[in-house]
Amino acid sequence: MAYWDIQVYGTAAESCGDNLKNWSLPLRLQPHARRLLTACWLLAAVALLLLLLGVFRSDYASQRRAAALQRCSRAAVALAFTADRCQLLHSAPPQQRTVYVITPTYRRPEQLAELTRLAQTLMHVPALHWLVVEDAARTTPAVAELLARTGVRYDHLVAPMPEECNILPGSKPRGVPQRNRGLQWIRANASRGVLYFADDDNSYDIRLFEEVRSTERVAMWPVGLIGSYGISTPVVVDGRLAGFYDGWISERKFPVDMAGFAVSVEFLLQRPNAFMPYETGFEEDGFLKSLAPFEPNEIELKANNCSKVLVWHTQTKKNEPSAPLDIKKYNNTNLVLLKKQIV
Ligand code: UDP
Ligand code: MN
Repeated sequence: MAYWDIQVYGTAAESCGDNLKNWSLPLRLQPHARRLLTACWLLAAVALLLLLLGVFRSDYASQRRAAALQRCSRAAVALAFTADRCQLLHSAPPQQRTVYVITPTYRRPEQLAELTRLAQTLMHVPALHWLVVEDAARTTPAVAELLARTGVRYDHLVAPMPEECNILPGSKPRGVPQRNRGLQWIRANASRGVLYFADDDNSYDIRLFEEVRSTERVAMWPVGLIGSYGISTPVVVDGRLAGFYDGWISERKFPVDMAGFAVSVEFLLQRPNAFMPYETGFEEDGFLKSLAPFEPNEIELKANNCSKVLVWHTQTKKNEPSAPLDIKKYNNTNLVLLKKQIV
């Protein structure tokens, strides 16, 4: 009889129900077949064990993955909250010099849009202190809310344009009282760092702020989208200043744009009389001249020897104030809240 010729003596028929102890399959096998069968059983048992272990392990792994995902999403929510407050982004190492950004701004339909864009640029810059100076008698609540939301370190100041300036012939010197208020704040509150005048409507590459930060005394770089030449910049030959390229040179000693230079706080503090004049068209030139003693050949040329445009003098289309809301018609609607956010 071949070893696989198994004879079944009993049956399991009577093992149904409770009679389990009688359940048996007496087998009569050749000894080597029995050994083979035992080996098979052993192999099957090991395979089963491995299978169970695999199931258990994959179950364990998927449980761990789910837990990790949960931890991750909790952390993401926490991080989003933190990012919202911007503490992570703005907890700069103390040795880094602070960049003080002075931004004049005024109430108009475009204001919140401009400030949102600028705020969300500045949120990427570490060790920055934003001085937002409103051309208004009192701070605007919507601006205050926006500033608080960004998490950027800031001070919210006001400096209304004096009545006297409104009746000056020609266009009024826009943003000047606000920039001078910013300078006054820096004199009172800062001892080191760099100041930069950033109008609310320009477009800034975040790389610019590291150029600003490295300013030792007075630094300059190109500004795009200015005047008929499309750019305003120092002209550089062999790494040295050779003049200025600007659509309107006039009598200016420093024919540059407001967004095209930065001044170190230490340098400013050594010049207590430096200020921005109320002279339309000569704001930059007047301020830079008021930093005397300081000559054009002392300018630090940034943005890779003034070969990169890192700031653009963009101008947003002016919008008419929105039509009044028919409060009788829309009293119980979202429009009441929306109307508070637009001018
Ligand atoms: N500005 C201001 N009050 C005004 C007009 C302008 O505070 O009555 C601000 C404005 O928000 C901007 C800066 O001054 O940050 C320069 O103004 P604008 O962009 O109108 O001047 P431009 O860039 O056309 O020279
Ligand atoms: Mn502008």
